[in-house]
Parts: sequence; structure tokens; C-alpha cells
Amino acid sequence: MYDSHCHLDFPELAGALDEHLRAARACGVERWHVPGCGPSQWGQLADVRGREGVTVSVGVHPWWVDEVECPESDDPRAQARALDEAMQRLATELRAQGAVALGECGLDRPKALQGGPSRERQRVVFEAQLALARELELPVVLHVVGEHGATLDLLARVGPLPRGGVVHGYSGSVELVDRYVDHGLFIGFGARLTGTGARRARESLQRVPRDHLLLETDAPDQAPAVEGCFERGRRGTPADLVVVVEEAARQLRVSTTELAEDTARNARRLFGV
Ligand SMILES: [Zn+2]
Repeated sequence: MYDSHCHLDFPELAGALDEHLRAARACGVERWHVPGCGPSQWGQLADVRGREGVTVSVGVHPWWVDEVECPESDDPRAQARALDEAMQRLATELRAQGAVALGECGLDRPKALQGGPSRERQRVVFEAQLALARELELPVVLHVVGEHGATLDLLARVGPLPRGGVVHGYSGSVELVDRYVDHGLFIGFGARLTGTGARRARESLQRVPRDHLLLETDAPDQAPAVEGCFERGRRGTPADLVVVVEEAARQLRVSTTELAEDTARNARRLFGV
């Protein structure tokens, strides 16, 4: 099995990483893709990327956008210059880390409404990263919450991504699945599928062409639900992928082995390993 999105470097997992990986391997998980989130966190990736079966990406997640020095200035040229320099630093980091993708990047409306980086700032930094992914011919790892329309507009504006990407932890509507797939993007689902309130995610899962489907834990973010309910405070672990694959297989009425193989093949196609 291939966990297409897992934060092995986060402190909740990093402290007992060997045990977590051993437990996941014992369940049949062999590969992990670990996305980067922002300049202050990129250094942590160095501790996980040399491990067997682990690949990384580097990017600026919308929650980390304020770490990018790009002043909201009245002088558009100064802003463009600052953004350019930030993208050069990102390009250098992508090379240094041996990243197989650019991400996470994207848009998160609830975060902006809760006082996080503004929507405009998120948009500017996201667009620059899409353009960089195009230039470097890297796939993208997208984090999109409450901004699917704006994301599709930006994808259309930036132009085709030669290596596509993935919309991870998919939360959009079933109708938008086709539009993302038309842009060459895979759709990733995680523990949310296991909750009783996940009607939208379940409908979207049915809609995704099998050769564009990825599965993930997004550990340590959310643990699978037990009897339909998410346990407050319980952290996700890499071994939870088994529950996600089993639940997705049950919903799609296919065998767990077949779905595990299909989604692992898709992840290898996307990340190139
Ligand atoms: Zn993530």
C-alpha cells in the first residue's frame, strides 16, 4: 500500500518514527509521500527523506504563507521581486531535498476567515507555485478547502501542468471531480471517508476514475472514525492507511487487494517512484 500523503516529520510522529513505520509495514504499507509545508518546517524533512520507501515534496502550504517574504506593498514591482526571490529559494530547496513534487500548496478559506493568511496573499503565493511547478515540470500536491472554484480558475489561468498533481483530502463537490481530472489531477481521500457524515466524500469517491484515485492517512491530522464517530484528540498514524483502504474498497465494492494495488500504481505514476 502507498500512503500518498503523510506528515512523518511532524513532532507527533517523528518522536517514535521507527515504531510507526514498523507498525505500518507490518500492515502492508510500503511507501509514504511526505509533503512539505513551509520554510520553518522544510528542515524537518531531512530526517525522513532518506528512509526506505519515503519520498518528499517541498512547498508553501496556505497556512504557512505568511512565512514567505512578500510584503503586501503598494508597489507591485517590489512585490513581484520579493515573490520571485521566494520562488528561487523554493526551487533551490526542491533540488536540495530531492523533491518528487511541489507541495503542499493551495487555498484555504476557513483559515483566512479565522485570521490566518489572507485570501489574496494565499492566492498570490499559490499562483507563483503553480507557475514554478510548470517551469520545473514537477507534479503538485494541492491543499484546497472552501476554494475549489478559485483553484480551478487559477489552474486554467496558469496553464497545463505537465506532470499533473493531486488534490489531497478531497472536500469539493462531486461535480468538480471531473474538472480536476481534466486538469490532469489525481484525487486523494483519507480518514474522512470513514465518518458517518461524509456523504459528499463518498459520492466523490464513486465519481473518480479508478486510474486517478489516491488514498492517504494525512497522519497525524485525523484518525479514522470508530463506528462512524471521530474520536476527539486521537491522532492519525501511518498504520491507519489499512482502515482507509478497507473503507474505500467497501464503498466501491471492490476487493481491498485490488484497490490497494490500483492506488499504489497511481501514486507511483504521479510521483515517479
Ligand atoms: Zn497535509
